[in-house]
Amino acid sequence: MSTYRMLTEQEAVEYARNIPDLFPANAKLTSREIGDGNLNFVFHIQDEISNKSIIFKQALPYARVVGESWPLTLDRARIESEALILQGELCPGFVPQVYHYDIEMALTVMEDLSAYEIMRKGLVARKYYPNFAKHIGTFLARTLFLTSDLALHPYEKKKRVASFSNPELCKITEDLVFTDPYYDAATNSFNPLIREQAEALWHDDAVKLEVAKLKEGFLTRTQALLHGDLHTGSIMATEEGTKVIDPEFAYYGPMGFDIGAVIANLVLNYVAQEGHASDVQERESYQAYLLDTITGIWTTFEAEFRTLWAEKAVEPSAAIPGYVDDYVRRLLQDTLGYAGCKTIRRIVGLAHVWDIESIEDPAVRAHSEKLALAIGRELILKRESISSVEDIADLISDTH
Ligand code: ADP
Ligand code: MG
Ligand code: MG
Ligand code: MG
Repeated sequence: MSTYRMLTEQEAVEYARNIPDLFPANAKLTSREIGDGNLNFVFHIQDEISNKSIIFKQALPYARVVGESWPLTLDRARIESEALILQGELCPGFVPQVYHYDIEMALTVMEDLSAYEIMRKGLVARKYYPNFAKHIGTFLARTLFLTSDLALHPYEKKKRVASFSNPELCKITEDLVFTDPYYDAATNSFNPLIREQAEALWHDDAVKLEVAKLKEGFLTRTQALLHGDLHTGSIMATEEGTKVIDPEFAYYGPMGFDIGAVIANLVLNYVAQEGHASDVQERESYQAYLLDTITGIWTTFEAEFRTLWAEKAVEPSAAIPGYVDDYVRRLLQDTLGYAGCKTIRRIVGLAHVWDIESIEDPAVRAHSEKLALAIGRELILKRESISSVEDIADLISDTH
């Protein structure tokens, strides 16, 4: 029988006190619920004497934004804990350390990253993150390559595919990213000023066909263990450091989905700057920085991925001449296609992003939204003709 119960702030303190070696015996603990996400509770628990602090993340048996009418498996908390632990082993220092987890309580006890800021907020304020491209490119290369058939014995890999089966969370992505934005779904919401563009999308057979193929990849490929929700609200950053949080959508899927998610969220910020930065020069230099970041992510990713391939591949076909080049070429195309899907869903689908929502004037916002839809469409339709990283920045900046 499950012992699950939803914690209050006070109960979280009691629970923390009973975890061995977490806080000193004389600790004076305070607790505050700080979650701003859609699904879960997040408690910040601090010892006022030693100042030591930790984070509790607890899943609810339903989606927090909607309530009990949208039940959602607690197993996502196990998946999140296990993914964080694995990612921490594969790419040390890039995820919060997990101190303790409790499957029955759907609870993860982890490192407090309050010194870091949710990256989306920093990007809206046009902050620069000089190490981000290198960090996230490395994180992606290591977590994706090292969980794939390229690096694991096929028995071990298939065991992991089973253990990270995440059907309910995948279904959310399948619907909200790949299906609903492409017809007049009840879940969609968008600025009334872009209705014409939304309707055009619902009748855009060329895009719908390509999105169907990309969805098929998401449904059927078990290429690597993905984070599964790698938007800039799942990244905490300072000027120096980068941490990836919130892998509750983790499952075995196509690598390009994670890389594309990061790129899409930089594209969304890029279009949002049209409505935020009134100074043209300031806007253009920040947009140029975002394009450099996108280029830098792919360049780092590819270099790290090729190094891992050369040094750590166990799959015999990895040695076949030309295979790595072909693999990387297809990966870039997947990345661009998924980046396009992840861009479009944030404009016409259920969940929007603060980068764009924080543009107050609906007419100004519509300009950014139309640009996002146009770039998303180009990424999806042109992905197979793009073979070099420089072409990505050109595709984005040439779209109007
Ligand atoms: P959800 O799955 O509900 O989106 P998140 O894991 O994204 O939950 O966490 C929600 C918010 O809680 C984050 O945006 C961040 O502000 C805060 N948070 C989450 N994990 C940590 C952490 N380890 N340290 C500090 N703050 C955190
Ligand atoms: Mg989140
Ligand atoms: Mg959040
Ligand atoms: Mg989440």
